[in-house]
Amino acid sequence: MSVEEARYRELLGAYVLDGLGVDEEAELRSHLAGCEHCRTAERELREVAAVLPAGDPWSDEDLAPPGALEDRVVGAVLGGAPAAVTPLAPRRRRVAAFVGAAAAAIVVVAGAATVLRPDPPVVPGTLGATEPITFTEAPPQAEVAYANLVAHTWGTELRFEVEGGFVVGEVYTVVFERGDGSTVPAGTFLGDDIPITCELNGALLRRDAAAVTVLDARGEAVLRTEL
Ligand SMILES: [Zn+2]
Repeated sequence: MSVEEARYRELLGAYVLDGLGVDEEAELRSHLAGCEHCRTAERELREVAAVLPAGDPWSDEDLAPPGALEDRVVGAVLGGAPAAVTPLAPRRRRVAAFVGAAAAAIVVVAGAATVLRPDPPVVPGTLGATEPITFTEAPPQAEVAYANLVAHTWGTELRFEVEGGFVVGEVYTVVFERGDGSTVPAGTFLGDDIPITCELNGALLRRDAAAVTVLDARGEAVLRTEL
């Protein structure tokens, strides 16, 4: 799935709950007109969104899964005894597929709560949106073609393309910093003298990211900006 396509899929979660801003909604609508995959995803999300009000995850009620579904799912996941996992009857299979889709949609919808009322062009933290950033510290010979952050429910992604300023073969480390100065690793890459294109992810939410730094092998900042 392309980067743009993945972004549209993230927007869909907010879209089916009327959570998109005017511009994003218009952009997504025009994409939907020409993309059957996204239209199918939209239909599935709408089916799930329609029944979401019936399920309150904070309810005290004990919502047991139907029949032996829990055992079968756990058995399948643990891979323990395939023989114990009997083929599901057609109706059960639909239920299982639906539960799977619902679980996926709830993840999307839970994330979508933070995208309600975004203001164009890009509010930092808008899920799936490309947020341009500028490295305020960079060696003079480094040419930054682009540098972006993308907020996800599972972390914050740094995407960049830089040419120059790196030592060929040296290990560079990307870290995000929280407001309290603690750091979150986002991956490593080797220096090269050709354009370096990276997509790295750190396990922190965009709102918790106060800075992002590319460190050289001695731990010195090569590229850095506060966010
Ligand atoms: Zn699409």
